[in-house]
Amino acid sequence: MRVSYSALDTYRTCPLKYKFQEIDRIKIPKNADMVFGSSIHSALKYMFERSPLYPTLDQVIDFFRGVWDASKLSVDMPSEQEEILYKEGISILEKFYKRNQPWNFNVVDLESRFGVDIENPETGEGHILSGIIDRVDKDSDGDFYEIIDYKTARKMPSQQIVDNDLQLSIYHLALAKRWPQMDSKKIKLSLYFVKHGEKISTSRNEEQLENTKKFVLKSIDEINERIKENYNFPPTPCPLCDWCGYKKMCPMFKHLYAKEYEKNKIKNQDELNSAIKEYFELKDKNQSNNERLDELKTVIYGFMDENKVERVFGGDGYLTRKIQERYSYDLEKIREVLEPIGKWEEILSADEKKLGKIIDSLPGDMQKKILALRAIKKIAVLTASKKKAGAETEDDSSE
Ligand code: SF4
Repeated sequence: MRVSYSALDTYRTCPLKYKFQEIDRIKIPKNADMVFGSSIHSALKYMFERSPLYPTLDQVIDFFRGVWDASKLSVDMPSEQEEILYKEGISILEKFYKRNQPWNFNVVDLESRFGVDIENPETGEGHILSGIIDRVDKDSDGDFYEIIDYKTARKMPSQQIVDNDLQLSIYHLALAKRWPQMDSKKIKLSLYFVKHGEKISTSRNEEQLENTKKFVLKSIDEINERIKENYNFPPTPCPLCDWCGYKKMCPMFKHLYAKEYEKNKIKNQDELNSAIKEYFELKDKNQSNNERLDELKTVIYGFMDENKVERVFGGDGYLTRKIQERYSYDLEKIREVLEPIGKWEEILSADEKKLGKIIDSLPGDMQKKILALRAIKKIAVLTASKKKAGAETEDDSSE
């Protein structure tokens, strides 16, 4: 499988977004932030690639203006926003140029494409991890290499987050693969936050790099499993949903947009509205009328199934159906595995909780045998939230 760092990052953020983007290949229009980010990246590349006749600051700004004027046309953006971003771009470049005069750096590569081979030691299956590194510098002694990734985000992460950043770990693997003669300990990894003019640097040791490979393999295995399970890529709402280009087609938000734009096309909308209203009323009064709540859930789940949505919106808030997966074990079969090695007694009675605890202490092949005897039970849980659409902390949940 060939997978890019950004696709993996999308998968970790939301499996459904990954499916829309990487499997269904649904194109979404660019937004202002994307166009702004790529215009700044192009200008910074231009600034360093003209060695030894580096451009002046005015030339870099002219270059940025040209890229911005051409690319802003692909985005629907109000003129005030366009002006703010343009001015911000110039201020970023001025600050950057002042602190990073290009002739003071030994840049050895710019926007460098890479592919790292990763093999699954258990299956022998090979994968390629790909991406683009913004810039690679070599220090004046020619001893250390520095990978630099430009970020146009407003928020700066903590040092701890950067020390565990997956992207930088992957970039380290990429550079080590390209120049295998290089001492891996002499690779510095940096994120440069251009809006702040600040750089946060880190490094990786062998153990961290091994863990990165394991993490990547685990993610690839998960993706392949989900494909086999009939493309089971669940939506995972998070604060980033507000910037997700697939929001209008996502089962977590489709109902919200359908309410605005296709009110008359939705079946059973009136019945749903009164069910949501009553559901919130019963919850507000803390009434334990389970029978009625179950009836309301039947109406709500019926609506969700029919309209292929997992979240419905009413005047008081929204309700989300979440599928929880719980493992169940066939304890008679487990007994056949554990009794011969004297571990069954530790469970004493047929107890799944105790079984869960001893699994970790078993040898690898035994663990696999036990895990193969598990079955997944799927349980629907309805969570209610009075927070605005997109906020992800539910007030209450019930099965
Ligand atoms: S809107 Fe949120 S939950 Fe839906 S696909 Fe996008 S990131 Fe996932």
